[in-house]
Amino acid sequence: MESLFAEQDFLEKNSGNNFADIILPVPIPRMFTYQIPPLLKPQIQIGQRVIVQFGKKKVLTGIVGKVHNKPPQAYEAKPILDILDDQPSVNPLQIRFWVWMAAYYFCHIGEVMFAALPSGLRLSSESKIQLNPNFDTETSKYPLDVREEKILEALEHKPELSYEDCEKILGVKTIHPILKSLVAKEAILIFEKVQEKYTPKVETRIRLTKEISESKSALEAVFEGVAGKPKQESILLKFLRDVPVFQKPKLNEKGVDKATLLEEGDSESSLKTLIKNGVFESFKHVVNRIDDEKAVREAYELSSSQATAFEEIKTHFESKQSVLLHGVTGSGKTEIYIKLIQEVMESGSQVLLLLPEIALTTQIVSRLKKVFGSQMGVYHSKYSDNERVEVWNGVLSGRFSFVVGVRSSIFLPFDSLGLLIVDEEHEPSYKQFDPAPRFHARDAATMLAYFHQARTLLGSATPSFESYFNATQGKYGYVEINHRFGDARMPEYHLADLSADRKKNLLKLDSTRMMREKIQAALDKQQQVLIFQNRRGYSPYIQCEDCGWTGQCVQCDVSLTYHQFAEEMRCHYCGYKEKVPQSCPACGSTQLTTMGMGTERIEECLSLLFPEARMGRMDLDTTRNKYGYQRLLDEFGAGQIDILVGTQMITKGLDFGKVTVVGIWDGDRILNFPDFRAGERAYQQITQVAGRAGRRDIKGQVVIQSRNPDNELFEKVIRGEYYEFFRQEMFDRKKFYYPPYVKLVKITTRHADFKVAEKAAHALHREMATIQAKKIVLGPEKGIIARIKNQYQYESMIKLDRGGNTLAIFKENLAKILEELQSRPEFRSVRWVVDVDPS
Ligand code: ADP
Ligand code: ZN
Ligand code: ZN
Repeated sequence: MESLFAEQDFLEKNSGNNFADIILPVPIPRMFTYQIPPLLKPQIQIGQRVIVQFGKKKVLTGIVGKVHNKPPQAYEAKPILDILDDQPSVNPLQIRFWVWMAAYYFCHIGEVMFAALPSGLRLSSESKIQLNPNFDTETSKYPLDVREEKILEALEHKPELSYEDCEKILGVKTIHPILKSLVAKEAILIFEKVQEKYTPKVETRIRLTKEISESKSALEAVFEGVAGKPKQESILLKFLRDVPVFQKPKLNEKGVDKATLLEEGDSESSLKTLIKNGVFESFKHVVNRIDDEKAVREAYELSSSQATAFEEIKTHFESKQSVLLHGVTGSGKTEIYIKLIQEVMESGSQVLLLLPEIALTTQIVSRLKKVFGSQMGVYHSKYSDNERVEVWNGVLSGRFSFVVGVRSSIFLPFDSLGLLIVDEEHEPSYKQFDPAPRFHARDAATMLAYFHQARTLLGSATPSFESYFNATQGKYGYVEINHRFGDARMPEYHLADLSADRKKNLLKLDSTRMMREKIQAALDKQQQVLIFQNRRGYSPYIQCEDCGWTGQCVQCDVSLTYHQFAEEMRCHYCGYKEKVPQSCPACGSTQLTTMGMGTERIEECLSLLFPEARMGRMDLDTTRNKYGYQRLLDEFGAGQIDILVGTQMITKGLDFGKVTVVGIWDGDRILNFPDFRAGERAYQQITQVAGRAGRRDIKGQVVIQSRNPDNELFEKVIRGEYYEFFRQEMFDRKKFYYPPYVKLVKITTRHADFKVAEKAAHALHREMATIQAKKIVLGPEKGIIARIKNQYQYESMIKLDRGGNTLAIFKENLAKILEELQSRPEFRSVRWVVDVDPS
């Protein structure tokens, strides 16, 4: 990978270079070379936003990716029109990272740029102009010429104009000087649209005017004045209750948020009257969206095994860039992270801790906040765009030297990372599926660390086979902790045989006797229970008992999922929904039943089995809004829920002391993924769920219901024989050419017409056969779901030799092939999606 950059010099300042490569938001996989006009030369820096002409008509904003002295071969470089920023928006390390990401994940650098910048900072793809609201023709100091007048007139009718619009209006090609003059005359705003997407949060605050706040008699006079005006009196009293103005004049200066002051239903118009009469004044105050919490605790003293692990990690870091920390659930990995983070921060470097999507709203963040307080930024995908811009700016300004974030936080403008930690590094959700860049945050973080000369710590109780493989090969340092922190013991497993119970008539509402007994025992002792049901491939659906009809999505080849709560059937791919019919649309029968079992149905069974227990359910449905997930966890943590039923979400790093029983409702479902990673995933999932049980002094109990309790995988999980399991699986991976022994690339061919899609997929195969690289090409096969959103899909899987630069050669050729295919008229509207390292 290094070779990509061998020739690139990432100069921060330009000294006499004549050309700049610009990253533009266009779907073409490269940067574009422009000429740097002499006037701009001393100013230009990598990472600045610039304006350039693109093609004949368009004017675009882009980012300077590189400056150099090589004129382009195929065309004459146009000049850069202007530079937008005094300071770069993006630093050279980020650009280097983008370049790598586009090359490695086979996408356009413009797409990486799009993913990297929060939309509040993003460049609009086409530059627009708008009227400057402060401009007044009557009072302006500057006379306008005819052409300028014309533009302004047009802006009276249309709130914004593109460069093209302006060209049309004036009938000239060189519009830039005119617009520049209008900007100088403060008549229009250009490109401001982009920046205005970010709006600081402003509060209106109210305080007593100086005259009143400094004189008791003046205040008394005010009270006399409002006697008999209860509304005004009420506001005044409420204000003084919160702000004892004579004891604490500072409080009055800070004022009170207007919304809070009026929150108990006081009238806004009465407040206005008080302001008009000179009692109160209002003022604007910019507030941070992100709470400034203070650190409230020291890091814990590490236990001796934690301390050993801590030292081992540091020793490995002396010679290795990456270390895998393999610590069983509850071994106290977070506390080790905390110590490492503190050390790196003290040395003046930045730290990024990556967490899987959902874990980010939970306990671990509040644990870290307690230690790091306001030095720590949190970057969450459920944040509003404005909140994200604040984290971005916080990193730029140095307010945050430590960030905890989801996968997209690798794009934040760090300039001196010392350490990247990827917690739960095995989590599939680190991979971005759609849209491009289809990156894996763990792997990208490793690359980012390389650019920063930083270290990477990968933590997990069930490492991904990729990372474990790297550790066994000596590429990564390896540190293991194989017992839990404190007195907590590993949980005890029970395999409950569904078929045996059925034969003995012991099955009740899909629960085995073992499951019921363990749950009852926990409830009797006021302990809590988690019930897990795998989401994937297991959704309830409606079926006609007479003719077998099932509801199908009208746009995708999938069954609709039944949602009991809304009495609806929904498509999980495209969101299509319809009401459950009264009778079968095919045969008219009214015998429609629910098949499959989702969390909703399990919750129902459990409430029938344990009518006294307080139930909770956590899945996509109950956590859709920003706080849904957090609220459920808070309730569970506060002991207001006895049994919590959930999908994958309940497994992510939860640490609740009172959970003593974990039930896996359908263990077989976990085993049956149609994927070479099935075994690895199943092992990880069961171990992670089980890891929520018995994390304090009471030993946890894990019940797995299954029809094949003799399955070897269960046995390996129960014994914790991760290494044995890994070795067996590796044997198959090697034999059948799967990662980590090969590199995988998946190519999906899509088209609305079934025949075109098929033809294009086959054409691609013929072309790929000519690539001279050690490879195996599989397919094309109809996608697991043949049609999504009315597009037919064909999938090809390519297995590439890991050695040399096979992957690079393959991608280079693939780019040419796709370009050629796309230029054929018959395939013009075919879409090819390339996924490197699919998961
Ligand atoms: P893991 O992330 O490895 O599953 P955690 O970091 O969540 O484990 O630790 C498990 C529990 O043990 C947590 O409640 C944590 O607060 C506690 N713990 C871990 N290390 C210490 C320590 N050194 N001192 C006190 N409590 C600790
Ligand atoms: Zn029917
Ligand atoms: Zn659909």
